[in-house]
Amino acid sequence: MNRLEDLLPTLRKPARYVGGEYNAVMKNKDAVELRVAFCFPDTYEIGMSHLGTRILYGLMNELDFVWCERAFAPWTDMETMLRTERLPLWALESGDPLSAFDVLAFTLQYELSYTNVLNMLDLGGLPIRAADRDDAAPLVIAGGPCAFNPEPMADFIDLFVIGEGEEVTAELMDLFRARRRHGWSKAETLRRAVLLEGVYAPSLYAVSYREDGAVAAVAAQPGAPARVTKRIVRDLDSVYFPVKPLVPNTEVVHDRIMLELFRGCIRGCRFCQAGFTTRPVRTRSVETLVRQGLTSLAATGYEEISLTSLSTSDYRPLEGLCDALLGECQKRRVGLSLPSLRADSFSRALMERVQSVRKSGLTFAPEAGSARLRDVINKNLTEEDLMRACGTAFEGGWNHVKLYFMCGLPTETDEDLAGIADLAHKVYALGRATAGRARGVGVTVSTACFVPKPHTPFQWEAQDSVAVFAEKQAFLRARLRKQITFRWHAADTSFLEGALARGDRRVGAAVEAAWRSGCRLDGWSECFSSEAWHKAFASCGLSLAFYAARTRAEDEVLPWAHISASVDNAHLWRERTRAYAGTASPNCREHCLGCGASRLLAGGVCDG
Ligand code: SF4
Repeated sequence: MNRLEDLLPTLRKPARYVGGEYNAVMKNKDAVELRVAFCFPDTYEIGMSHLGTRILYGLMNELDFVWCERAFAPWTDMETMLRTERLPLWALESGDPLSAFDVLAFTLQYELSYTNVLNMLDLGGLPIRAADRDDAAPLVIAGGPCAFNPEPMADFIDLFVIGEGEEVTAELMDLFRARRRHGWSKAETLRRAVLLEGVYAPSLYAVSYREDGAVAAVAAQPGAPARVTKRIVRDLDSVYFPVKPLVPNTEVVHDRIMLELFRGCIRGCRFCQAGFTTRPVRTRSVETLVRQGLTSLAATGYEEISLTSLSTSDYRPLEGLCDALLGECQKRRVGLSLPSLRADSFSRALMERVQSVRKSGLTFAPEAGSARLRDVINKNLTEEDLMRACGTAFEGGWNHVKLYFMCGLPTETDEDLAGIADLAHKVYALGRATAGRARGVGVTVSTACFVPKPHTPFQWEAQDSVAVFAEKQAFLRARLRKQITFRWHAADTSFLEGALARGDRRVGAAVEAAWRSGCRLDGWSECFSSEAWHKAFASCGLSLAFYAARTRAEDEVLPWAHISASVDNAHLWRERTRAYAGTASPNCREHCLGCGASRLLAGGVCDG
């Protein structure tokens, strides 16, 4: 350990690796029956900002027979040090290597973290492939949004949790404790685990392929369900919520209390995976949220509360909640922030509530530059809505507005792209007219590259090639006046994301080849190598374009066909058809389109 004390200060941000944060949970490892390392496959700053990590860390530690610790992906300097010094990756609480745990629980938040999972397993002293880990090795489980297509990671993970983790995690902990008590083999444990709703063990499923490379069938072994349906928490008021969250020692991306207003989304934007996979909407009451907010403030000393959800302004009692929280926040000089506001519901009343404590930049997401394309993607936002929201913001003293768009959306034309520039110029002109020259109005246009995702109406679409994305970005750059700040996502990382998002089980070999050739931290531009990934796919007889840039037929067996987000494929296809007809769909509060998600609720009816 003395050697470590010498080495850690030589690293960038050593606080990432030492633990000891306020509210970190310490237990006696000899007094618990199950040791879990919650593994976030990205840096400490990203992982510690993630609400799901806080929830599952707290929830598992509430169980007296479990000690849950944390591990994060090391930055490159730390990895070099670990490999040079022959030290294993350790968990922050005990300092024990990952190989000492009973369970490693990964969260897969985005596809570009996949090589980090392999790297963490390897640095932890474990075989990366599930088949190479014997009965004595930790069981490796994973959940999170990417688990909705688990296939590219199927070779590395023993068990996936599909959907929301709170209830099924507690059930799995009971099962793993029973495994220890009864000495079940890994195979026996997996067979029992898949009897729990929402649990998928890839080794119990065989995938066959057609000659053209598409999936022919996914066959479940006897005893495993043919289709695994996601889990949801029905009652958000009674489910566990961490009111004593960890307070990081070093700066992290989101360093604040996060209150989760609701899960699901009423909107049905056709590109949005979360909008479909988290259906149906379930809300927390104002009373619960205020109690959670005040308890968290007292337990942490934080100075900001963020109200989170997929679309915060769709929380019906939002103004009442803000008023209830603001009384306390103002007394304590605590700020309230509301990300994810829709432009069509950004009102003066809401603005005054947020602004009464602290003012920060405002972001609106029209997503597409023309009304036509916004109908295609079902954004249901008019130019008038956007101008009204921006006008309200400028009148209220805000100087800077960020507009978020996607390029490469299905049916997109040059006119749609030009519409992005037109909108930005109109917003800028409005700002100058409203705020005046002296206030220095700023408008930023930020464009992401559209990535078709599983379980959405666009899951069958071809993604634009890297060259086409680059042309579109250049087209837009040429049209935006110099007063507008323009930011865009790198096309090659989005294209890899597209290939991994809709990959099948064979893609796992490419992920391994990429990692072996040095790919890790792929979500960081300074670490990403497009060339290495293309080579890795080619070395396995695969291509990124097959997965990213290919239109699928309606009847093609998709690699995730055996995973159900509880939204019917027929509904997704109908929405795709409406997209091509340029027809918007009503939101869940206006009219239920019978997507299938209500089956998960007691009584089978959504309340929106
Ligand atoms: S069942 Fe109806 S109301 Fe419920 S999520 Fe689906 S479309 Fe929306």
